Amino acid sequence: MLQISNLNAWYGASHVLQDIDIEIAKGEIVCLIGRNGAGKTTTLKSIMGLLDKTRGAVTFKGKELLGQPAHLRFALGLAYVPEERRIVQGLSVRENLRLGLVASPQKKREAELIDGIASIFPRLAERLDQEAVTMSGGEQQMLAIARAMISKPDLIMLDEPSEGIMPVLVDEMFELFRAMKAQGTTVLLVEQNVELALDIADRAYVLDQGTVVHQASARELLADSEIKERYCSV
Ligand code: ATP
Repeated sequence: MLQISNLNAWYGASHVLQDIDIEIAKGEIVCLIGRNGAGKTTTLKSIMGLLDKTRGAVTFKGKELLGQPAHLRFALGLAYVPEERRIVQGLSVRENLRLGLVASPQKKREAELIDGIASIFPRLAERLDQEAVTMSGGEQQMLAIARAMISKPDLIMLDEPSEGIMPVLVDEMFELFRAMKAQGTTVLLVEQNVELALDIADRAYVLDQGTVVHQASARELLADSEIKERYCSV
């Protein structure tokens, strides 16, 4: 589904990603792990088209993405939930969900799609008319994920979804990722909580200083305390 070869990325003159190679098959949950500053967020942003300077090849469903604007990548079936959730102040949960459909060809079925996504996220179903920013951090994170899922993306990229969220909601959220996978959604996950992430992932790539230093099945990595200690904040 997604093939990344020799991806390089820069912030100004700073060469942050160097020759990254990553492959994700349809229906997989793939996790990017590595210490702060390793390049995980930059990799997601490069895939989504949010950086000014990238080189290499990023092929999604057979189409080259580099050079395409972010909105076209979205239209192709990519979704991205950034670490800062970007919940819109002054709007209700329902209105925030509607924003996920703004650029979508499915906009006509709006009410049906909002009901459908709310049924998967019971916490949101109970709060559709509540002002979104009055919800807890975890509920807002659920909303950000639901808003990305409402357009039925083929691949969803999640940046640190558990950050700052109470454990009971984190468990609920990770159960949801399993359910998304069961429905055929492909997931690229960046997560500091390595044990939790590897528990649901199929495979993982370890990044360090802007390069891939290791890749393995999630099961192998879970058992590899040396790699985890060397490259992850565990
Ligand atoms: P974290 O878990 O801390 O978010 P990360 O693995 O996601 O880490 P990135 O955010 O991708 O790491 O950062 C990779 C490198 O790029 C770091 O050295 C960081 O300082 C640098 N960087 C990130 N954003 C910018 C920016 N907007 N301008 C310049 N340098 C940046």
